[in-house]
Parts: sequence; C-alpha cells; structure tokens
Amino acid sequence: MLPDRVGRAITASAGPIVFLTGAGISAESGIPTFRGPEGFWRVGSRNYQPTEMATAVAFARMPAEVWRWYLFRRGVCRSAAPNAAHRALVRFEKRAGDRFLLVTQNVDGLHLRAGNSAARTYQIHGNADFCRCMRGCLPVVRELPVKLSESWEKERSLDDAELATLRCACGEWLRPHVLWFDESYDEPVYRYVSAQRAAETAAALIVVGTSGATSLPTRMCETVAARGAPLIVVDPEPTVFSAVAEASARGVYLRGTATEIVPELTEALGALALGRGV
Ligand SMILES: [Zn+2]
Repeated sequence: MLPDRVGRAITASAGPIVFLTGAGISAESGIPTFRGPEGFWRVGSRNYQPTEMATAVAFARMPAEVWRWYLFRRGVCRSAAPNAAHRALVRFEKRAGDRFLLVTQNVDGLHLRAGNSAARTYQIHGNADFCRCMRGCLPVVRELPVKLSESWEKERSLDDAELATLRCACGEWLRPHVLWFDESYDEPVYRYVSAQRAAETAAALIVVGTSGATSLPTRMCETVAARGAPLIVVDPEPTVFSAVAEASARGVYLRGTATEIVPELTEALGALALGRGV
C-alpha cells in the first residue's frame, strides 16, 4: 500500500513513527465535530457558537453554563466507542513501544479509552474527561469529579452539590482541560514543543482525518515535508495536507476513511519499521 520510495525511507530511519489524528477518526465513532450546528448552545434567549463558548472569556463570565456545555459534549463522547482505527493504533503501540508517538487534536479521549498510553499520546487540545484548577494548583491535570454523571441531557443544569465538586480545594474554579479558542498551545499542558520536535526526527508522519485548520499540525507537516521524510495522509477527501504530501518527494495520499486505511497501514508500517515477525 506504500510506494517503494516511502517504504525504503521508513526502513532506513530509526526515528519515531508519529501519528497525527483529528476529527475524522472520531467521526467514524459517531462523534460530531461540534463546529457545525450541533455545537450551538442556548443560554437564556441567545444562541452561542462553539467559538464563543469554548473561550476563557465565556468561562470568566458564565462558568456554570460553560461547564454544562462541556458535560453535555463529554456525555456524547462517553457514549461513543473506539473504532477499528483506534484499535489499530493500540496494536501498533504495543508492537513499536518507544518508536510510537500519537499526537491528537481530539478531546474525546477515545485514544486513551482504546488503550493507547498517556505517556505516548500528546493531546494537544486537551481531553474533556479531565480538568485543571484555574490557578494552576497541583496536580495540574485531574480527572473530572466522579460524582458528575457521564451522560448529560442537553437541558440539564448543575445542582449546587455538582457545582461544589467543580471547585479546587483552593476555592478557585476547576476548568475543562481543553484548549480554548482564545488561548495558545503550550508545552507543560499540551506538549506543543514535544510534538513539534517529534516532527523533526520522525521516520514518518501519518496524518489521519484532519483538514488542517490549526497551526501545530500545519507546522508538523511542513517540517516533515521539508526534511524529505515520509508524509502519509489518510482522508476520504483531499485536504491541504494531502496536497503537501503529493507535492513532497516522499509523500503519499491514501484516500479513504480511517477505519478503511489505518488497520492495513499500521501492519505495513510495522513490517517496514520494526521488521517482519517482531
Ligand atoms: Zn486550586
């Protein structure tokens, strides 16, 4: 499934095999992007767009409403199950160990729930199953309070007891562990620098189901293409990344969905990078 020019380069490199995943891999588990109409949220008489709700500004003004929106979204994510593409990445990590790295834009937590390790999964936009104190108290990233239900009706408000669980011991609000639209990537919480460094040494970068709207994936693809390293793009429709891959000496665009392509692709990559029978 991979051309010889790509396969030979992967075999010759000792660098990490880096996967970068976006909404496309979760779509096949039934999770909407929340960027379309399904992301609208009504507060009082006003409809808010996701780009307005997922902000530090909105949280400062109406923390309980922003939490309610996240708990609803998290409920949608928790009711979804990992698919064949997620499972293939778990098998690949088991086989590749430290040569595997997964960078994901998805906050639905499906990669971790499928079984990928937290140590080798950089969740560059966070994970809606976790929260942080607004003041930065330790531990920085924590699981959501267990008292909060995993399913959440759209109209349901938080009661006082639930709101109390969303306070840190210091008295400050806990916030969703998710990168907001009016915030920037950083290293301590979102592994921004580590993800970019991985692109500088990757034996291959495999981009699955992301259309290229955000800056870090764009930089990673450009870095790998500029090095002349293998850039493999999996998507049912052409994207800016598939165009970069097709213009690159060792790029390849595999047209199809994540569940159609990733299981076979990870087998091929395992044979090339790790040797047959390993
Ligand atoms: Zn605190």
